[in-house]
Amino acid sequence: MDIAFGKEQEDFRDRTRQFLQAVLPPGWGTSRHPYPQTAKEEEELGMWWERTLWEHGYAGLSWPQNYGGQGLTWLEQVIFSEECARVNAPVGVNGLGKGLLGPTLLVEGTEAQKRRFIPPLLAGEEIWCQGYSEPNAGSDLASLTTRAERVGEEWVVTGQKIWTSYAHLADWCFVLARTDASAPKHRGITFLLVPMHQAGVKVEPLRQLTGEAHFNSVTFDGARTALENVVGQVNDGWRVANTILSFERGTWIVGRHAQYMREMDALLQAARDLPGTGGSAAQDSYFRQRLMALWSEIEVLRFHGYQVITQLQTKSQLGPEASMLKLYYSEMHKRFGELAMEVLGSHMPFSEGLESVGAGLLHRAFLGSRAETIFAGTSEIQRNVIAERVLGLPKDDRH
Ligand SMILES: Cc1cc2nc3c(=O)[nH]c(=O)nc-3n(C[C@H](O)[C@H](O)[C@H](O)COP(=O)(O)OP(=O)(O)OC[C@H]3O[C@@H](n4cnc5c(N)ncnc54)[C@H](O)[C@@H]3O)c2cc1C
Repeated sequence: MDIAFGKEQEDFRDRTRQFLQAVLPPGWGTSRHPYPQTAKEEEELGMWWERTLWEHGYAGLSWPQNYGGQGLTWLEQVIFSEECARVNAPVGVNGLGKGLLGPTLLVEGTEAQKRRFIPPLLAGEEIWCQGYSEPNAGSDLASLTTRAERVGEEWVVTGQKIWTSYAHLADWCFVLARTDASAPKHRGITFLLVPMHQAGVKVEPLRQLTGEAHFNSVTFDGARTALENVVGQVNDGWRVANTILSFERGTWIVGRHAQYMREMDALLQAARDLPGTGGSAAQDSYFRQRLMALWSEIEVLRFHGYQVITQLQTKSQLGPEASMLKLYYSEMHKRFGELAMEVLGSHMPFSEGLESVGAGLLHRAFLGSRAETIFAGTSEIQRNVIAERVLGLPKDDRH
C-alpha cells in the first residue's frame, strides 16, 4: 500500500505554497503581523479570504467545473487544507456552505439548485448557516418542532433554531422543518433552503466560552421560501440531513491534523521554555511521555483522515467511518488542550507575552476543543452510531 502523494499532487502542493506566500500579508503568522484580535476583525478577514480563494481558483477544488469548481479531487483538497493550516491561513466564513451544503447539493440537489446556489456559495457572495438544533432537539434531532407549511407557491417556516453558527453573517440557512406532524418523528421532516434577509427571521447572538459570538439563536416567525427550495423530496429531509452530517463529521475537517501539529510545535516550544521537575517541562518525564503520546495520536489522525477521504474517490458520501474520525479527533484535541494548560501552568495568565506560546494559540486550542466534542453530534452520539453501525449492537431507542 502506497500512501504517499504522487508527483502531480506534490506539484499542486508547491503551487499552493507559492500562492499562500504571495497572497498573505508579509510577516503573516508572526508577531510582525499577529492574527486578528477581535471576532469582527476575524470575520472581515474571513470574508476577504473567501473572495481571494475564488478569484485565484482555490474555491471548490474537488467540485465539478460546470458549477464553478476546479474539477480536481479530494486529495488536492486535503493538500490545500494542510498547507493552509501549516501557515495558519485565515478561516473563511462560509465553511458551512462549502463544507456541508455544497457537497450535499452535489449529491442530492436538482440541476437547477446546483446552478443557482453553488457558484455564489463558492464566490463568497452568499454565506450559509445550518438550522438543525433547537432548544429541545440537539442529540435527539428528529424531535425538532420547527414547522413549514405550504401556502400557495411558498413554504412558511415557524420555530426556533439555536447554536446557529454564522447566522449573523448568513444570507441563507439550510433548515430542517416538520412538514407532516402525523408521521413518525424521523419522517415528515423536510430539508429547506431559506433566505435570511426577510422580516420573518430574527438573529440573536450567543456568547461562547472564548468570549466570541460565532453562533446565535434564530427565530423563524412566518419566514418564507419558494416551493422549489426543497432539497430531496418533501418529508424525506432526515435522509438529506444525514448526508450533511456525514460530510460534517468526515470531510469538513480534512487537514485538521496539520493545524493540530502546528499547535503541537507551539506546545513543544513552550515545554522547552518553561520549567518542570528537574529542569524544563521538556525534561520532565511526566510531560515528555504525554507530549510524545499526543504527537503520535496526531500522526494517526493524519493517516485515518487520508483513509476516510480516499473513500470519496469511489463513493458519494461517507458511512459510520465519519463518526469514528469525528470521535477520534475531538477527544484527542480535548486532551491536547488539557496537556497544554498543564505545561503552561502558572505561566498561563501571562503567556500572551511569550513568543513560544503563539499569541494565545494554545489557549484557543484549550477553549475551542471543548466545543469539538459537542458540535456535529456529541461524542456519546458518535459512540452510539459506531456501536450500532460498526459493532452491530442494539439500536439506541431514543433516536
Ligand atoms: C461551537 C458549536 C457550534 C454549533 N453550531 C451549530 C450550527 O451551526 N447549527 C446547528 O444546528 N447546531 C449547531 N450546534 C449545536 C450542536 O449540534 C448541539 O449542541 C449538539 O448536537 C448537542 O445537542 P444539545 O446541545 O442539545 O445537547 P443534548 O442533546 O441535550 O445533550 C446533552 C448531553 O446528553 C448526552 N446525550 C444525549 N442523548 C444521548 C444518548 N442517546 N446517549 C448518550 N448520551 C446522550 C449528550 O452527549 C450530551 O453530553 C453547535 C454546537 C457548538 C458547540
